[in-house]
Amino acid sequence: MRPTVILRACPDYDVERIERLAFEGLETLGLTPHGRVLCKPNVVASGKHFPHAHTRAEFMEGVLKALRRKGQGITELAVGERCGITMPTRFAYRGAGYYAMARRVGGVTLHHFDEVAQVEIPMYHPERLRDSLFTPEPVATADFFVNCPKFKAHPWTTVTFSMKNYIGIQDDRHRLIDHDHRLNEKVADLQYIVQPQFIAIDGIIAGEGRMLTPIPFDLKLMIMGNNQVAFDAVCCHIIGIDPLSVDHIRMAHERGFGPVDLKHIDVVGDVSLEEAKERAAGFRSGLIRVEDYFQGTNIHAYSGPPPSDGGHDYCWGGCPGALEEAIEILRIFDSATDTKMPPTHIVFGKYDGRIDANPGETVVFIGDCAQFDGRIAEQDVVIENLYVDRSRHDPLQAKGTDIFAKMLKVGIDMRQAKVAKDVIRLKGCPVSVAEHVLALVSLGKLKNPYYEPSNAVLFTSAYMSMRTRQAINKLRGQPYNRPGPLLRGEARPRLNLPAPGQDAPLERR
Ligand code: SF4
Repeated sequence: MRPTVILRACPDYDVERIERLAFEGLETLGLTPHGRVLCKPNVVASGKHFPHAHTRAEFMEGVLKALRRKGQGITELAVGERCGITMPTRFAYRGAGYYAMARRVGGVTLHHFDEVAQVEIPMYHPERLRDSLFTPEPVATADFFVNCPKFKAHPWTTVTFSMKNYIGIQDDRHRLIDHDHRLNEKVADLQYIVQPQFIAIDGIIAGEGRMLTPIPFDLKLMIMGNNQVAFDAVCCHIIGIDPLSVDHIRMAHERGFGPVDLKHIDVVGDVSLEEAKERAAGFRSGLIRVEDYFQGTNIHAYSGPPPSDGGHDYCWGGCPGALEEAIEILRIFDSATDTKMPPTHIVFGKYDGRIDANPGETVVFIGDCAQFDGRIAEQDVVIENLYVDRSRHDPLQAKGTDIFAKMLKVGIDMRQAKVAKDVIRLKGCPVSVAEHVLALVSLGKLKNPYYEPSNAVLFTSAYMSMRTRQAINKLRGQPYNRPGPLLRGEARPRLNLPAPGQDAPLERR
């Protein structure tokens, strides 16, 4: 069937209507769910502070009911996700009402991708960043994969529609690898793991501007499709963006995953593309440079280029965007955030311009690639580049860092990692949103969202459940990482890691 995108009016989160629209969507696309049916929503964050960040439970409920009604020979009806910002997925599911939703639908398995085996999938395309990627076992074994993203803007990749939702088909330790200036390439590479047979995006209340704390936008649309590139291209057209300007869409298109030209996409449904565009008029996407984002606040941001691989002049996929998301989280939890923050200077990348800090004002260099050699507040400061080439990061050896370890690390860094008077360096690539939050809490003496009383009990309970499940898996001898069947034995393509101290670039396969 030609790539088809269905635009349907959907004024609210009425489950029966969503079920009917999803059922009709499956019929239009000639799809019959079968075998292991896995739905991947976007539950990056949830709860009362993040009401518009995730695919709503009512939306998921309607889609699941339609899948079951339309299906034949379904052996498992499941939802799977790895939420964001170092939270246990259990915490995000609870905040989004997914456990109650699964009970209402009945017979639905909720997979927590941070608690299952990660299966290695080989990559063979010439443009790949690495030879293999890991993905949770339920993704690797799904027969009928359904992508259920949220229609949102994104500070790292302009938008997060269908393709970008794949960042949640990796657990944290694999997800953070290449989550830097080459994030768009990573998202394009993730497309080789699996392609969805059916896509249904929650565009009823869309999210403007950001991805964790988006501004609600009444779009009142349910959009469905059968081709991920075509789907994202139409969503871009709806908000007035050229799909080819979004790098991961362009790359996936160039690699043959689907069309972006509307001539090659059937756009059908009870809402025309022109009408959808009118609904989306004024929608603000992401992609604001960090210097501009903090204009008019006490945070003065500076950024130089990230490492030269990939030819980028700005790290769109890493630390700067994480700082933008972090400040918005803090503003939600502490309305006095901007007034409490003392004048602070935050520097990313290889920066060789002026840093206008007065004596006594804190300067923070963030990320392994930060580099500087100059004067700050009447003292000479040298910040060395600590960036380690991505070819040296072997996903098989990647270690996870949970939120409590991050709290400890940031706490130590903020106290001990002073490279000069009032100058601090935070290491990491990327330095995550959670670490940015903790650093800003420390600098501004702000309320720590992780200690918020309404969150603390649920968070601790979800964390303990996650840890217990992971420990049980270990005791049962189930390894966290499992080489995929194609990679066992000698056939497994290994990264050709250089000996310590060797800087020779690796040959890419
Ligand atoms: S350290 Fe941060 S800014 Fe530098 S490349 Fe890594 S993610 Fe980007």
